[in-house]
Amino acid sequence: MIIRGRTVVTMHGAPIDNGAVAVSGNRIVEVGRFDDIKKRNTGNIVDLGQHALLPGLINAHCHLDYTCLRGKISQQKSFTDWIRAINAEKSNLSSKDFLGSINDGFEEAKRFGTTTIANLTAFPELISQVQPPIRTCWFVELIDIRAPERTNELVESAIESLGKARPEPVLPVTPKPGEGGSGVEGGAPWGLAPHALFTASKDLFRRCEEVAQQEHILLTTHLAESREEMEMFRDASGPLYEFIKSIGRPMDDCRRNTPLELFLGALSPRRASSGRALPQWIVAHLNELTESDFDLLKESNSKFHVVHCPGSHNYFGHSPFAFDRLRSFGFNICLGTDSLASNENLSLFAEMRALQKKFPRVSAEEIFQMVTVNPARALRQENALGQIRPGFRADLIAVPCSSPTEVFEEIIAFDEPVSWSMMNGQVCND
Ligand SMILES: [Zn+2]
Repeated sequence: MIIRGRTVVTMHGAPIDNGAVAVSGNRIVEVGRFDDIKKRNTGNIVDLGQHALLPGLINAHCHLDYTCLRGKISQQKSFTDWIRAINAEKSNLSSKDFLGSINDGFEEAKRFGTTTIANLTAFPELISQVQPPIRTCWFVELIDIRAPERTNELVESAIESLGKARPEPVLPVTPKPGEGGSGVEGGAPWGLAPHALFTASKDLFRRCEEVAQQEHILLTTHLAESREEMEMFRDASGPLYEFIKSIGRPMDDCRRNTPLELFLGALSPRRASSGRALPQWIVAHLNELTESDFDLLKESNSKFHVVHCPGSHNYFGHSPFAFDRLRSFGFNICLGTDSLASNENLSLFAEMRALQKKFPRVSAEEIFQMVTVNPARALRQENALGQIRPGFRADLIAVPCSSPTEVFEEIIAFDEPVSWSMMNGQVCND
């Protein structure tokens, strides 16, 4: 099949005017000018007219479990109050509700052009009952604050759920060996998500990291999200400190350490610079950082990936995200929607706009990288996803394009459901 567009945004070199992509099976075979592609390839021609053809979008942080909580939790005075509120909402929901929520979330993400999603779930037992319509990197979210003696058991059962219950993927996510690399040898991209430093013990973080090294899986966590988290660890005070203490967590690590310092120290007795596998980690948020944290980040020669969630960030009113500094230190910054318990929708176009509003000097092209090339790298799919290149997966979307010279601006301004998309070589018609 040959798909022609007014312009093709490959994310590997400049966009190609009057471009086309040849697709065979679930792979991109060739990309270039329509006239050349037509000569060298056979098959049906799909002409998308005045549309730009783009790589499908990649959401680097999301919790589809909570899609049904859209609009249910009003903005709270404190992050801790929000945790209380979401816990109260969750206690009214059944497995069936969560299952419906996950399925609705997938459909919404897909409607807005997302073709790959890093989805954290607190209900690994539901994974086998879901048939994701898009490429999914499942992360099992782990919390051992109420049962620290069961840490290992928790990790084992998460792995079992992912291993046993993980259905034959609707869409094969990992290329077979020698078939173009995913970077994840012998395993699909799935992972473990110790929830946060205040809900997951040091042992849980350590165990997850051991498993990740053995099984070549991904790791993600929430870090330095709120002022209250900083207050808890650095000052041993504040609402989050009191709330978490009341649950029974040992609080001896709360005093004088920032969340980042604890994270860098929690996983290994050695410091970040001594070779710990930080690139395994996809760290969500990183909103609250001190000057000494910035020094640590700057010095670290081993970098984790960072996910910024602009919509959720606005909802909570966190400290400004240090985009410029993190970027200048060489961090790979990706965008995520977070859940609908703190955001309005699952559109990465909306996230790009929210970022652009706060950082108007960042080019539209660079912003688009944060939902394509950058998250592909974080998910170790940089040789398969996030670009339109021969050998890559045929995950494509199209948006209207009236001026190829301003295609990236037009992409970011696009605020409707995507009218044409292709998932793994199949045109989606709904
Ligand atoms: Zn989250």
